[in-house]
Amino acid sequence: MGRPSVSTIHSYFIFNKSLNESACKNCECKIKGKHGTNLKRHLASHHDELHEEYMSKELEKNNCSKKVTKKESQVKLFNFLVPKVNVQLNKKIILDACIDLVTVNGRPFTMLNDTGFRKILDPVLNGLQEKKFTINSYSIKRHVHAESLLIQDEIANEVQSKLISLKLDGVTRLNRAFLGINMQYIVDDCIKLRTLGLVELTESHTGTYLKETILNILKKFKIEQKQLYTITSDNGANMLKAINLVEEEISATVAATIELNNELNNDSIEDTADVSSECSESYDSSDRQDIFFKS
Ligand SMILES: [Zn+2]
Repeated sequence: MGRPSVSTIHSYFIFNKSLNESACKNCECKIKGKHGTNLKRHLASHHDELHEEYMSKELEKNNCSKKVTKKESQVKLFNFLVPKVNVQLNKKIILDACIDLVTVNGRPFTMLNDTGFRKILDPVLNGLQEKKFTINSYSIKRHVHAESLLIQDEIANEVQSKLISLKLDGVTRLNRAFLGINMQYIVDDCIKLRTLGLVELTESHTGTYLKETILNILKKFKIEQKQLYTITSDNGANMLKAINLVEEEISATVAATIELNNELNNDSIEDTADVSSECSESYDSSDRQDIFFKS
C-alpha cells in the first residue's frame, strides 16, 4: 500500500486511475500519473493565483502541524529585534531586476526559486501586497519572452526600409554549434550594431541549411531581402555557399522588382544607390570576406 496522498495539490486535479492521468480542474490539460512535483509544476506555470493559494495552504498546514519549539520562539524574538527597512521599489523595478539576472547576468532561471534569493525577495513581495503579482522561474520565463518580442518589434521598426550589412560567424561550444548574426545600419549618420540572433544549428551545416537559417532570422525582424547590402563572414566553404545562395535569391527578387519598376517608370532605385555608397565607406576589410550585392 502506498503512502496516502495528503498533499493539497491533488485537490486541484481529478485523477483517472484507468488512464493513469490527472486532469486539471482549471484547464484542459492532462498530466501523466499523479506525481506531486509534476502537478505543482503545472500549477506554477499555468495558474499563478492558484499556485500562490496552494503555497499559502501548504505553509499554513506546516505551521499547524509543528509545535512552536523553544528555538523557534527564540528566532521570533530575534526577528522582533531586526530593524525595519524602508525601500523605494515597485513592481516594475523588481521585475526588471529579475529579468536582468537571467539575461544580462546569465544566471539560470532556477535561481529565482533558490531559498537564499527567496529570503530577500519574499519580504519585499509581501510588502507590495499585490496578490496577482508572483515571481518564480515560470513567470519570469514568460516575462523574458514578452520582453524579447518588444525588442524584436523595436528593431523591426527601426530598420524598416534601411540598407543593412549582415555579419555572420559560426561557433562551436561543448558539441553545440551556433550561428551568430549581427547587422549594422545607419540611423541619423551613426552606425548601429544589433545582434539578431545566436541560432543553434541542429542540422548538418550545409549551405542550404545556413541560407534558410539566415533568411528565417531576417523574416523574424521583417527585413526584406532587398535591404541586404553586404554580408560579412569568414572564408568557410559552407558559409560562402550559403551567402551565394542568399545572393541568388536576392538577384531573383531584385530582377523581378526592377522589371516591375520599369513598368511603373519609377526611378527610386537610383536613390538607394546613393545611400549604398555612404554605407560602404564605413567598412574596411582585411581578412574578412565581404560580398556586395549592389554597386
Ligand atoms: Zn491547468
